[in-house]
Amino acid sequence: MPPSPAPQPRSSEPLARVQDRVLLHLRRSTVSLLEHVPANAAGAVLPAGEIPLQYRRTVGSGRPAPLVLDPARYRTDTATPQVPFRFPPANLCNPEGDPAQALRQLDRCPSPFDTVLTPTGLLASDRTGIRALLEAVRLVQGLRTHRLVLALPLGPGWLTRMGTHVLAALLAPVSVPKALVLDGEHSPVDSVEKLRALRCVLTELPGTAVLGATGLTALDALAHGAPFVSVDAAPRSEDPSPPAPPGVLHHRLLTYLAGPAATAHLQGLGRCCCEPCLQWGEERAHGRVGRPYAVLGQDGNAEAAHAHNLTVVSDLARKLTRGAVRGDRTKLWRRMCTDAVREHDWHRDAAGPALPSLDPSEELLFRAGHPAR
Ligand SMILES: [Zn+2]
Repeated sequence: MPPSPAPQPRSSEPLARVQDRVLLHLRRSTVSLLEHVPANAAGAVLPAGEIPLQYRRTVGSGRPAPLVLDPARYRTDTATPQVPFRFPPANLCNPEGDPAQALRQLDRCPSPFDTVLTPTGLLASDRTGIRALLEAVRLVQGLRTHRLVLALPLGPGWLTRMGTHVLAALLAPVSVPKALVLDGEHSPVDSVEKLRALRCVLTELPGTAVLGATGLTALDALAHGAPFVSVDAAPRSEDPSPPAPPGVLHHRLLTYLAGPAATAHLQGLGRCCCEPCLQWGEERAHGRVGRPYAVLGQDGNAEAAHAHNLTVVSDLARKLTRGAVRGDRTKLWRRMCTDAVREHDWHRDAAGPALPSLDPSEELLFRAGHPAR
């Protein structure tokens, strides 16, 4: 009998394939965005279900980019102390539906995913949520994981001084890798206080990933110790109302240009030379390199803006992580943000008083450490 083929080598480190990467976080409603994402994207977080054709072709051997499975139960279920994880119905291997057994199955079952998130329900920031988190911690304790990551989808109210202390205390004994899910609907990082709280969690719980955030929050997390991050491809709600335009991320201003005041400046910002924008220019062969920011910001260009935004975030992440160890990364990110504040000042002077003033946001000033201007 011929020997059975050797199993594919898998690193003993569950996060080895995703380390330092900015992944594209897709929902069922945004899977089509994969077509617009450049081939050099760092990898993807996919919802449960069919793997999109583009990825199916490369699954098996030599796939270029890592895949993470997110069952995303937090979009439909709230975690309770009795049921912190929502597994699929009991199966033949686990007829009783034992949660510890179901976790082991998730970790071991053959699948194309390098990393698998636990199917955690949304964690409310109240007694029920805390008790649900305690039960989740109890179930993963002692688990020897090959690729399972404890997903922590935070509801509103966790990113406060008190919330971060509670998280740090409850999660300190957890040895499996952890990932905060900062879903735009439930826990957007949209203020200096929340940004400060997030940095505090990353300091207290080293090795915690940050998933589903905006690109700038993801970069901030990467600069403050997150082993990997994911960016919500297009933070659309699942309901059918028309999505808000995403805004166009400018790589030197480190700002999403959205809303009438910011978009008035797109014309004066010239052209972008990120990969998809270079390709746009080549296809049109007008003799000019790249794509005007004004074109990116036009109505109906939302998918192009998302692909541009993700590429810019990925480029910035490469700059941030290339050769820089953790402490240096924090300093480098602060310097990049300080430069972005100066870029705002320079651009405002160049644009003149006819345009509405383009001021750096409070969050950018915080990231830059409030530089003298
Ligand atoms: Zn671009």
